[in-house]
Amino acid sequence: MPEPPRSIMHRFPGVPTLEGAGVRLRRSFSNPEVPLFDPFLLLDRFGSSNPEDYLAGFPWHPHRGIETVTYVLDGRVEHGDTLGNSGIIGSGDVQWMNSGSGIIHQEMPQRSDGGMSGFQLWVNLPAREKMSVPAYHGLTSNEIPEVTSDAGDRVKVVAGSFGRVEGPVRGIPVDPTYLDVRVPPHGTFELPTVPGYTVFAHAIDGSGSFAGTDRRPVVGGETVLFGPGGPVRAEAGESGLRFLFVEGRPLREPVAWYGPIVMNDRSELLTAARELRNGEFIKHRRPVVEE
Ligand code: MN
Repeated sequence: MPEPPRSIMHRFPGVPTLEGAGVRLRRSFSNPEVPLFDPFLLLDRFGSSNPEDYLAGFPWHPHRGIETVTYVLDGRVEHGDTLGNSGIIGSGDVQWMNSGSGIIHQEMPQRSDGGMSGFQLWVNLPAREKMSVPAYHGLTSNEIPEVTSDAGDRVKVVAGSFGRVEGPVRGIPVDPTYLDVRVPPHGTFELPTVPGYTVFAHAIDGSGSFAGTDRRPVVGGETVLFGPGGPVRAEAGESGLRFLFVEGRPLREPVAWYGPIVMNDRSELLTAARELRNGEFIKHRRPVVEE
């Protein structure tokens, strides 16, 4: 018998937050919500037409034990890290970064006349992967496949799959799906889900509703976490609905979180703090070419 569609269980309007060196953003969820979104830790939405809100950026800072996923909708974010990667994350590009045992990086939004906006999602690593070798996928917009249907739906597949199309980000421990879905005005749209996985959606713009027991409208900026069940069924309002669809396998492991470092217990946080003080935090750097 087919499972009934998943219902919205919790709604998060987003909280204005000052982050980095003074970036104004909206935080959808974070450490107070642990473990509701397991394996996802945090979702920030940045974006403003006023450069003063973002130019301070996120200067050099460490991460350990997580993956950070930056998706730029509009504008440009300059980045650099201790693996030797550097460049620009431009409109429609995604950076999927696995901090593993440790990375120090910066993320600096550039002045843009057309506005600047995007997302950062933090994905937890299983305990056995937290001290792994850092890895980095930089994907430009044209490397992210888009599936379109006769009904006018458009789905960009970053990770996981939609229909027969698989996203370019593969081999992530929590088996995530990360889609950017556009449903035309008054359109309906159904996405299958994996039983037992955590599933949430963030309305980017427009409005709509989801099947289930809470059918109240979901508007741009709102994040909704679904309960257990079968597919997620969206119904777009009169101006259409664009949303992020994110799914992943829960880890069900203890979470010890201090700022940009997320481990399993407090002693690992103390070790990270000591290593940062002693200059022993970075275990893997780009290979040094000796002359
Ligand atoms: Mn960062």
